[in-house]
This record gives sequence, structure tokens and C-alpha cells, in this order.
Amino acid sequence: QAKLAGKDRYHLFDSDQDYDLRSHHESVERIRQGLLRDEFALHYQPKVNMHSGELIGAEALVRWQHPEQGLLPPDRFLPAIERHELGVQLGEWVIDSALSQIAAWQAEGLRVPVSVNISANHLQRADFAERLYLLLSLHPEVAPDQLQLEVLESSALADMNRVAETMATCTRMGVSFSLDDFGTGYSSLSYLKRLPAAELKIDRSFVRDMLHDADDLAILDGVLGLARAFRRRAVAEGVETEAQGELLLRLGCECAQGYGIARPMPPSALPGWAAGWRPPLRWTRQRRLGAE
Ligand code: C2E
Ligand code: MG
Ligand code: MG
Ligand code: MG
Repeated sequence: QAKLAGKDRYHLFDSDQDYDLRSHHESVERIRQGLLRDEFALHYQPKVNMHSGELIGAEALVRWQHPEQGLLPPDRFLPAIERHELGVQLGEWVIDSALSQIAAWQAEGLRVPVSVNISANHLQRADFAERLYLLLSLHPEVAPDQLQLEVLESSALADMNRVAETMATCTRMGVSFSLDDFGTGYSSLSYLKRLPAAELKIDRSFVRDMLHDADDLAILDGVLGLARAFRRRAVAEGVETEAQGELLLRLGCECAQGYGIARPMPPSALPGWAAGWRPPLRWTRQRRLGAE
């Protein structure tokens, strides 16, 4: 309260705002406690080649096993710490935990690259690449090319030069990048040219609507053309139905993720899933239009 005296004194009389500040502070503290008590966990969602059925990666998605509220998805707690130091600490916990998981799967005979979501605030830290190097060195059994970082295209908005530089440094270390939710940000083509991302993840809104919205189909087709022109791998998010997968394959997009393939799962379930999954026949038979 004392800190609000002076210039912002009126806050003391604005009960709503006062309450928001206090509840924000409380959420941050609760998340800090959760991290100390080891209540966070990563679930993994497979990324596959729909045509060959090959598992090409797994995306780590953070969950909070809350003692009273059960398993909480990231949108229930990440916003509170997005611009906070604690967000960076959780981000580092996620990277470290993902690297341990890659090593554990490798020991079981499953070699699968893992992608981790990185917040804009975390990526913009001046020491991001240095800290990543440190985390990698704690897991010498994991080759850096087994780690991919997913960043929103808007992450570079605030400081394009520095983010491009950070991405270049990490790329030299062997870590690759994916531009997440691609198509929804403010990216211009010059972003795509300057950011060294090996992969574009097409936002699931385009996939969801492409079967009945000609504009979304056009955007999707355009993004796939861009990916080919810039030699980036395209991955479609949010594939829920066979028909969506089939149309993507016809458009030349083989890589995808989505509930129709697999939901995010605890790490212990992934090796069994990978051993048993077969793509639908409609997908294995489908070839890109005009590619024969
Ligand atoms: P994202 O990186 O775009 O991840 C995809 C989200 O879509 C995940 O939700 C996933 O469960 C969901 N999803 C996957 N396939 C489908 C589908 O077919 N249909 C629908 N409706 N949804 C699907 P989740 O796990 O709740 O994560 C939401 C967002 O939270 C992520 O979006 C990512 O931006 C963020 N996030 C998740 N984990 C982390 C993390 O460890 N660090 C950071 N900084 N952000 C994270
Ligand atoms: Mg992602
Ligand atoms: Mg996404
Ligand atoms: Mg998203």
C-alpha cells in the first residue's frame, strides 16, 4: 500500500484496481509456491507426418497440478506471470524438464525432438542464449538439435534486431525455431526473411475454417507457398478431422498436430502411442495435387 502513496494515491480509493493489484500479487506468490512444491508438469502432444505416419516431434505443454483445483491449463496461470521474473523461471524449468524428458525417452530407445514454447518476454532477455547454453550443458546426453523453440511471430515486435540475433546464436548452437500461431501476428514478409526459424506453425484458426471459408483456405495455401519459397517446414495446428488432414495433404502440407491425431498426454504415454499410431488410409493414399 505504501508504495501507492504519492503520485498514484488515488489508487487507494479505487477499490477495484486495488483489489486487482493485490489479487495479482497473490497469484504470482501462489505460482511461486507451486513451482517450489514441484506442482508443474509437462504434457506432450505428438507432431506427425500425416502421409508416412512418422512421429516427427512432440510439443511440451505446461500444466499445473493444483492441489485443490486439479490440472490447470496454461491460460489459467501463465498470463499472471507473463511479464514477471517468475515467468522466466518457469520458462527455464520447462526447458530443463523437457531436456530431461528427451534423455529419458532416448534411454527407452525413442528419439524424438521436443519443442518448447518460449514467451516473448523470456526470448527478449539479453542473456537468453547464454542461459540456454547452460541448460543444454546440464544435459550432455541430449544433442541440441533435439530441442526446438516455438516463439510467437509477435515476439520479435519490440526488438527485432536483438531477437533475430538471439535466434541466430541459438541456431548456431544447434537449437531450431518454429514460428507459432503463424498467420495471426503482425508479421510482414521481412520478418520471415530475417528470423531464422526452420518451421512455420500454421495457426489452428485457418485449419478449423478452411473447409468452409474460402478466405481461410486462401491464407493457408498462401502460407504453404511462403514456407516452400523460404524453405521452412510447414506444420498445421489443430487438425481435428480426417477431412482437414486430407485437404492439407492435397495442398502439400504433410506435417500436423491436433486432437484428431492425439491430445497432449503425460510423457509416460508417448512411447506406447508412437508404437501404435497409424494414420487413416485416406491420409496415406492422399498425395499433393499435381505432385504426381
Ligand atoms: P500453442 O503453443 O499454440 O499450443 C497449442 C494449444 O492448442 C495447446 O493448448 C493444445 O492442447 C491445443 N490444441 C492442440 N491441438 C488442438 C486441436 O486439435 N483443437 C483444439 N481446439 N486445440 C488444440 P494448451 O496446452 O492449453 O496451451 C495453450 C497455449 O499456452 C499454447 O499455445 C502456448 O502458447 C502456451 N503454452 C503452453 N505451454 C507453455 C509453456 O511451457 N511456456 C509458455 N511460455 N507458453 C506455453
Ligand atoms: Mg506452441
Ligand atoms: Mg500454436
Ligand atoms: Mg496458440
